[in-house]
Amino acid sequence: MINISKQLRKYFILISIISVVFITIVSNISMNYFFTNYVKASRSQDDLKLVQYIERLYSDDGGGLDSRSLMNILHYSYSEAIEVKIKNIKNEVVWESGMSDTMMHGMMGGRRYQDRNVVYKEYPLNYQGQQVGIIEIGRPQSIIVTSQDRGFVYTINGVYIAAFIFSIILAAILSLHVSKKFLHPIYLIKENAKLIEEEKYKQLYDIETNTLELQDLSISIKELAEKLEYQDALRKRLTSDISHELRTPLATLQSHIEAFMDGIWQPTQERLMSIHDEITRLTKLIKDLSDLSKIESEEVRLNMDKVNLSSLLDNVVDNFEPLFISKDIKIVKDIQQDVEIMGDADRLNQIFINVLSNAYKYTNEKGQITTTLNEYKGKVSIIIEDTGIGIEKEDLVHIFERFYRGDVSRSRETGGSGIGLTITKALVEAHKGTIKVESEVNKGTKVIISFNKSS
Ligand code: ADP
Repeated sequence: MINISKQLRKYFILISIISVVFITIVSNISMNYFFTNYVKASRSQDDLKLVQYIERLYSDDGGGLDSRSLMNILHYSYSEAIEVKIKNIKNEVVWESGMSDTMMHGMMGGRRYQDRNVVYKEYPLNYQGQQVGIIEIGRPQSIIVTSQDRGFVYTINGVYIAAFIFSIILAAILSLHVSKKFLHPIYLIKENAKLIEEEKYKQLYDIETNTLELQDLSISIKELAEKLEYQDALRKRLTSDISHELRTPLATLQSHIEAFMDGIWQPTQERLMSIHDEITRLTKLIKDLSDLSKIESEEVRLNMDKVNLSSLLDNVVDNFEPLFISKDIKIVKDIQQDVEIMGDADRLNQIFINVLSNAYKYTNEKGQITTTLNEYKGKVSIIIEDTGIGIEKEDLVHIFERFYRGDVSRSRETGGSGIGLTITKALVEAHKGTIKVESEVNKGTKVIISFNKSS
């Protein structure tokens, strides 16, 4: 395994080597091509000029070339690093500029042929409209002719080598910078994952990056941490809540039974009934708790379907009727017909049962419970209002908390465990709805539940 930093460096350097080599090859080829063409064209022009010059000398000398003219041609050929041969019409060489290397070197001030491979080109020597001979002009085949030319090539190659070294250094520095830029957040994300593993959710690092994917990843890790922390806290709280809630009633039951066993108390029908009620309450509590833990840990999958909320609520209220009648509570129903939402019918039933049973429990005789359902602009609202004992202001903020009971003595009397509303809220939220409670002591309580029609 190689770490990212080394991998990046490797690829950066490789890319820069490839690009420099590619640029070198392409520019060499194109330079060679264009430069050769250019040199060839200018050589042809020079050749023509020389031919014209020789013809002029020929003509000035009255149909021949005297020694002064030949000397001029010789000078010209030395200075231009070319060889000139003059032939008669029979193709016999009558004069040539060829000379030894040393002479040439001396005369040309260092400009000497590196390439002795000379290529000759023939031109007719004309005088008074007639060809009188042939001029052969020889130039080295290679375009790199002199030591200056070589020097130029060396310089160019030196520039390429410098660019090559420079680009490798730059690639190494850049790869370091890039790997720092990407690796630092990745390193922090890795550290965060480690902290999550150690359950140190509060110590997670803040990750600042302008790389979209890394930001998404760090947000996902943070959300995962929050979820795990929540689940963790939930688990711990649930355990302590349960032990707290069960300890008192179990101790009471134990002491009652011990009293029976010791013969201190007679197990009268009334006492047995009270024990039975307590056991029933505990059983309900355990069931509620199990429901709640499932809902909160998102184990509950809602069986979403189209639900006719109007008839569902109507039914729930009707089922409560015997209870309400027994307390002489008046029921008012204002339910808009055929309001449908997407939801889990069983869970929606449970929501309304919980709220209505609270309304029933906390409303005195001869009270009134009003149930309203209406749909407006894609929002469905259900309001269950009672004229009961109401909730104290300081209790109102806590009523959705697990095991919170407004009035513990009264709650015990009504069999409340303080988790009905916790479950209700969790179920409403599972349907992406909201629940809120408004209340005034001795006036009554209003529970408002809202669902979105589309959800
Ligand atoms: P419980 O099982 O104790 O009723 P809930 O979670 O359903 O638990 O309710 C929490 C507390 O909120 C109750 O103990 C009670 O004090 C208060 N409460 C809920 N509904 C009403 C209501 N309609 N009228 C008055 N108080 C209410």
